[in-house]
Amino acid sequence: LRRNPGETEFHQSVHEVLDSLGPVVDKHPEYTDSEVIRRMCEPERQIIFRVPWVDDLGQVQVNRGFRVEFSSALGPYKGGLRFHPSVYLGIVKFLGFEQIFKNSLTGLPIGGGKGGSDFDPKGRSEGEIMRFCQSFMTELYRHIGEYTDVPAGDIGVGGREIGYLFGQYKRITNRYESGVLTGKGLTWGGSQVRTEATGYGTVFFVDEILRSRGDSFDGKKVVVSGSGNVAIYAMEKVDQLGGRVIACSDSSGYIVDENGIDLELVKELKEIKRARISEYTDARPEARFIENGSVWDVPCEIALPCATQNELDGSSAKALVQNGCRIVAEGANMPCTPDAVRAFTEADVTFAPGKAANAGGVATSALEMQQNASRDSWSFEHTEERLGEIMRGIHDRCLETADEYGVEGNYVAGANIAGFTQVANAMLALGVV
Ligand code: NDP
Repeated sequence: LRRNPGETEFHQSVHEVLDSLGPVVDKHPEYTDSEVIRRMCEPERQIIFRVPWVDDLGQVQVNRGFRVEFSSALGPYKGGLRFHPSVYLGIVKFLGFEQIFKNSLTGLPIGGGKGGSDFDPKGRSEGEIMRFCQSFMTELYRHIGEYTDVPAGDIGVGGREIGYLFGQYKRITNRYESGVLTGKGLTWGGSQVRTEATGYGTVFFVDEILRSRGDSFDGKKVVVSGSGNVAIYAMEKVDQLGGRVIACSDSSGYIVDENGIDLELVKELKEIKRARISEYTDARPEARFIENGSVWDVPCEIALPCATQNELDGSSAKALVQNGCRIVAEGANMPCTPDAVRAFTEADVTFAPGKAANAGGVATSALEMQQNASRDSWSFEHTEERLGEIMRGIHDRCLETADEYGVEGNYVAGANIAGFTQVANAMLALGVV
């Protein structure tokens, strides 16, 4: 705490992981002897930089850029960029720390990192977004590379922003280095299924939970928070698997449509018009919009928080439990507070943590890197099949590891321990570096 004052979210994510590691250090004193845990909590490198740019009125704006290169024990640093006014070092470090274990769980050769800026894209013109991205990359380019650090998207950074960032990288370096960024467009080095991957992957994970109990999505009522990239494709896969999404949200409030959310309408509002979710009711008057309300008040069997950190607290968790929710899977990073996780555990609600349940996005980014390295591009079906295999693998690894360490059925402990041991073993092999 003293070394990292004020970094609340980072402290929260470190506590969450360390809480699970008791049985591991009992069994493996070599991790304590080599200070592997202390080393893991200290980023290998942290970069903070000025991002100056000129707005449409000719006014100079100054934002702050971040890239925290947390761990390269398993491969190049890998993790997204977030553009949101709430971004500061504590958020970037929490996301980077989570990313180490998530990337490890995928079984693919990628280290952990994260970055972003306190830039707010809302209400900005295309020209402003482009100039901001160009300025951001003008500093970031010297720190990243196919073998060094490979950023991707996150909140506020989608295909459009990755395009502007990649364009500037290519221009400055005079290299068509496709593997330097993931989440690219399909005509310039991107991978099929990357757009859908995080949301689809989360739903594949829940499908595995259901299948392990001889159950399925068929007819299940599902509530999703957010209406961004992760939320939209989680909703799409729930629909495809026979479930019914009845509510979703954005930061202004939530909508309930008991007939099932009209996903094409949400896509049009969010992906094309970049409008507020309240406009959904203009086209579907039978639906309700609740301003500033909590989507977790809507009765459902499965809840998928897909918006942002700490969006689901203890009282929301209790409301979900009372209303009959049985499974919660985190599509977002750390959306459930520690109180919420405790409430789910006490009520025997199955809880799948983000580092396992939302790992499909980064896993498909690693598949994009594979395709770039081999100058290849795979079909949608093949890539989705690979994503499904990876998510099943993560699910099984969480459960097997939980069994091995005497915490049967605990996905949180299983994910933390499996993710941790793989990174720790690589660190031991690489010496004190
Ligand atoms: P988007 O920017 O596409 O969407 C974010 C959604 O969350 C929007 O609907 C946004 O509403 C809402 N939201 C953001 N901040 C808040 C807030 N403070 N309160 C309420 N709602 C909010 O981001 P993504 O879908 O890409 O990311 C969502 C989450 O998933 C994040 O936690 C991210 O780290 C995580 N994640 C994303 C991955 C990816 O591949 N994209 C991979 C793994 C995890 P509004 O538009 O009103 O702000």
